[in-house]
Amino acid sequence: MNILVVNAGSSSLKYQLIDTDTDTLFAKGLCDRIGIEGSKIEHKQIAKGIKVKKESPMKDHADAMKLVVEHLTDPEVGCIKSMDEIQAIGHRVVHGGEYYSKSILLTDEVLEKIKLCRDFAPLHTDAHLMGFKGCLEIMPGKPQALVFDTAFHQTMAPEAYIYPLPYAYYEKYGIRRYGMHGTSHRYVSAEMAKLLGKPVEETKIVTCHIGNGSSVTAVKGGKVVDTSMGFTPLAGVEMGTRCGDIDPAIVPYLMEKENLSPAEINNIMNKKSGFLGVTEFSSDSRDIEDAIFAGPTDPNYERSKLAVDILKHELKKYIGSYAALMNGLDAVVFTAGIGENSPLLRGMVCSDMEYLGIELDAAANESAVHQSDAIRISTADSKVSVYVIPTNEELVIAKDTAALVSKN
Ligand code: ADP
Repeated sequence: MNILVVNAGSSSLKYQLIDTDTDTLFAKGLCDRIGIEGSKIEHKQIAKGIKVKKESPMKDHADAMKLVVEHLTDPEVGCIKSMDEIQAIGHRVVHGGEYYSKSILLTDEVLEKIKLCRDFAPLHTDAHLMGFKGCLEIMPGKPQALVFDTAFHQTMAPEAYIYPLPYAYYEKYGIRRYGMHGTSHRYVSAEMAKLLGKPVEETKIVTCHIGNGSSVTAVKGGKVVDTSMGFTPLAGVEMGTRCGDIDPAIVPYLMEKENLSPAEINNIMNKKSGFLGVTEFSSDSRDIEDAIFAGPTDPNYERSKLAVDILKHELKKYIGSYAALMNGLDAVVFTAGIGENSPLLRGMVCSDMEYLGIELDAAANESAVHQSDAIRISTADSKVSVYVIPTNEELVIAKDTAALVSKN
């Protein structure tokens, strides 16, 4: 089945056309600066290896969808003859609150529920709503499925998701741990479970999705028992520009000292912290690793090393505590931009972990960069398997969509 996967942001729309019968990616692309001057589309036809970039006005997401369809059906750069060859659309949705623990087909009732989740992720939710509307306008009658970043984490027990704040705030505002990157954690944990070669019900896996945004998840028997992100994506480990877990008392303290509004402190914790806050020069791990490899004479060396040491320290804590929570550990998976491409970080995290049964294969770790397949980076004797597994959220979205469409 040909599924168009859509990830709508406030001024962008990413897409992929995937055949779920053969897991083939036909085309992918990005519409950028929607509603802003200088809108452009970047489109890639995979089989022919053709890439096109074109400036084209897009006043809204419907205009963007129209351009996407034009490119997909273009005789030169396209891959299908007409829109009829697209059976359904699958949307990535950031927040499904407590309503959705699985993917679902879009209906009026579902739309109303999504609007109720708006408070949790206002910018993302508004963008998704524009994406749904755009698809509806350009491809009326085509089934649309929603795949939620929060859904996989809905199996957590109350002891993992209730914060020890007054309980009334959970009831009144829905303040609880939701977790993010669920589609990625679901994909890599399922791939890892297959590699372990034992029934999913018996597997204990920690998945580390380390990119610009990062989260760690404990998956026991195929179900999430805990995850590092919380009410928002700000929680957990140090990220590109997010601080992750800090003592909550720092927030009112800094607000008072620096005379900051809630929006200002929020901005500092989300946009000016993490790697960027510590190094004071970059949020990008490539710059930071370059400074580390350049050595102590590099002006950014000390802080870069500190930033990466902090992340290493936190990841070790999460892996150890999740192993304790699951009463054991079969595998650790690294994925996303940094997880898939940084032997340095993986090596630091997995060193001195023999007590947990982790023994890294240094050569395999060094070679696991820009891989398209899963690769084992632990030694043959290591009790715990450590793998790099490239994430593929779009494939999960396409497959969930195809399954929902086939059922109905
Ligand atoms: P997002 O959370 O935006 O999806 P990604 O998963 O794309 O983020 O990860 C972005 C991060 O991955 C950046 O810090 C980037 O530097 C890092 N990254 C990508 N490629 C490499 C690489 N080859 N070596 C080290 N880090 C990399």
